[in-house]
Amino acid sequence: MCLDCLPTRLSRRNMMKFAGLSLAAASMPITASASESKHAAPNEEKPADAHKAEAAPAISPEEALARLKEGNARFVNDADACAANLASRREELVAGQHPWAIILTCSDSRVTPELVFGGVTLGELFVIRNAGNVLDTSALGTIEYGAEHLHAPLIVVMGHKKCGAVAAACDVVQKGTQLEGSIGKMVQPILPVALHTLFKSPDFVAETVANNAISGAHRIPDESHIVSHLVESGKVKIVSAVYDIESGKVDFLEGA
Ligand SMILES: [Zn+2]
Repeated sequence: MCLDCLPTRLSRRNMMKFAGLSLAAASMPITASASESKHAAPNEEKPADAHKAEAAPAISPEEALARLKEGNARFVNDADACAANLASRREELVAGQHPWAIILTCSDSRVTPELVFGGVTLGELFVIRNAGNVLDTSALGTIEYGAEHLHAPLIVVMGHKKCGAVAAACDVVQKGTQLEGSIGKMVQPILPVALHTLFKSPDFVAETVANNAISGAHRIPDESHIVSHLVESGKVKIVSAVYDIESGKVDFLEGA
């Protein structure tokens, strides 16, 4: 059981409520990031909670990864057993947030990090989601904020089996499918990965999902001197992973 577990199991109705609140929490730090980044500009005094974030005792990247693995094991073994005490956590977090892992994953409604990692509660995960867990400018900037300013020691790029965005990119590469609207532009960063993977696996989409997560994890330090510096100093670890929507298991790939 996690530290924030309620003594009793949540009803299905409450679990759905928890899922909704977790998603809402996942979207909040991005707003806070913009606001706090502005206040943290050079020659400006930082807000009180920014100082608190910097002063927070950090856990090591290895401890953060172990927490995720233990949480996912709880989720796989008994998905209903773990629920977070949202009311008390909400009160505790008014003064500031100290997330211990950054998760870049897909917007797929079946892939909710706070649930997948065993009922992680408010204020623990700094989450970025888009279709296909694409590392775009917005995602990279959010990762930088979480690592540099909030001192989260672990970055996870997590794809998932049966990902529609990755499947769409595979169709573009394999069949020349034209994607409408902004979806084509959205999956463009996945196309080189799909092209590299084509003809190399009997399960083209599944292999591209894994390679897309690995590629995203590699690109973060390559494209961010802020994160690469943190990695070189041992303060931050980057891992890739694939979530199985059927079994509930997260397989950690490179870096784990
Ligand atoms: Zn997906």
